[in-house]
Amino acid sequence: MKIGVIGLQGAVSEHLEAIKRAMRKLGIEGEAIWVGRPEQLDDLDGIIIPGGESTTIGKLMFTTGLLERVKQKAADGTPILGTCAGLITIAKRGDAQVVRTKQPLLGLMNISVVRNAFGRQRESFETDLNIPILGKEPLRAVFIRAPAVEEVMGDVQVLAKFQGKIVAVKQGNLIAVAFHPELTPDTRLHEYFLRMCQLARTS
Ligand code: GLN
Repeated sequence: MKIGVIGLQGAVSEHLEAIKRAMRKLGIEGEAIWVGRPEQLDDLDGIIIPGGESTTIGKLMFTTGLLERVKQKAADGTPILGTCAGLITIAKRGDAQVVRTKQPLLGLMNISVVRNAFGRQRESFETDLNIPILGKEPLRAVFIRAPAVEEVMGDVQVLAKFQGKIVAVKQGNLIAVAFHPELTPDTRLHEYFLRMCQLARTS
């Protein structure tokens, strides 16, 4: 199993570590690599788009050619996990801020997103989030200038809400969350993603 984290900007090494921990937990033999060039995507079983600054990540993904290649991989059924800025990048539509910055989006998931959805007073916070697909125990979730999903279209499944706002979604081989699962010791979300990757390999 080989998982790649788009490593142009943002919380990359934390995701690599979280994936390695999750692999050990599940007894999966594999590796996690830092991705900077499109050809590195060819043999990946799963791709993570990390948190950071979505304008920067989108623009660099465009200029490096990663944007187009990730779209192709997604269409071929490769699982993709987007976290925080990654949730914005994976979306089909963004808010006025997204339009103004002209930041490139992958346009893969049938969601519209709002950047910095939790306002200035609550730029960063932690909370226990109920995510039923990960089990009964809530997940400690770190939100940092987090986006939220404003609208879901088509076959998008809402996985979690916080203060009435949608903060975790899944659509087939795509999964995205507004928080930072790589910053806490709990690896359940990365484990869930690895199981999606295992399933995609065997189907
Ligand atoms: N606010 C950032 C953006 O809009 C996302 C923050 C993050 O990824 N932690 O791109």
